[in-house]
Amino acid sequence: MIVAERKPFEEIKAMIEGCKKVLIVGCGECVSVCMAGGEKEVQILASQLRLAFEEEGKKLEAGETTLERQCDKEYLEEIKDKVDDYDAVISMACGAGVQFLAEMYDSKPVYPALNTQFIGVAEREGEWSERCRACSDCVLAETGGICPVAICPKGLLNGPCGGTNDGKCELSKEKDCAWTLIYNRLDKLGKLDNIRKIFPAKKYSVQTTPGRRIHEAFKEKE
Ligand code: SF4
Ligand code: SF4
Repeated sequence: MIVAERKPFEEIKAMIEGCKKVLIVGCGECVSVCMAGGEKEVQILASQLRLAFEEEGKKLEAGETTLERQCDKEYLEEIKDKVDDYDAVISMACGAGVQFLAEMYDSKPVYPALNTQFIGVAEREGEWSERCRACSDCVLAETGGICPVAICPKGLLNGPCGGTNDGKCELSKEKDCAWTLIYNRLDKLGKLDNIRKIFPAKKYSVQTTPGRRIHEAFKEKE
């Protein structure tokens, strides 16, 4: 899932300076799960903004809606009859959702309410950790299912740097060294020979930006 967190309130408030009506649009997928931009967070932000404006003697009409997801046009179309009624839209989706919304309603200012952080997993309630950097050339088959690109802060592909100490990363004693984790997992899997394999320099050329993928079944139509 994509993990995000809400921007500081003052930053969001400053974005809509001068607006009298804003539509706050949540997203029902990843950012909802990580409690950053779902229906509840839309309600909280709307209330905070109304209150803050009121305290300054101003009135703000804050509309609220949460779409199934914002990275799909069919759901973005659901607000087509509403958007014109507002001075601006605040998107509580990840950066992809914000951009798609801004592209579809390009005559309306669209502001991001979240900072998008990483692709990760839920460790436990309220805690997420990064697991993938979407490098487009996955090496997990060789590393026992542990990603050296995302877990090692240096993204080292061929074993640890000289700083690994008692299984911890030299950059933070709080973090396990990715290559210690990989070693231990490969040992458990009986695949320690993998540790001797040398990865060639990573094919970052396949990690083109902006990325684009067309499913085989849809290539002819394209
Ligand atoms: S190697 Fe790591 S960053 Fe690349 S696709 Fe696999 S999990 Fe993601
Ligand atoms: S100590 Fe391990 S995780 Fe930390 S930078 Fe070095 S190799 Fe990467």
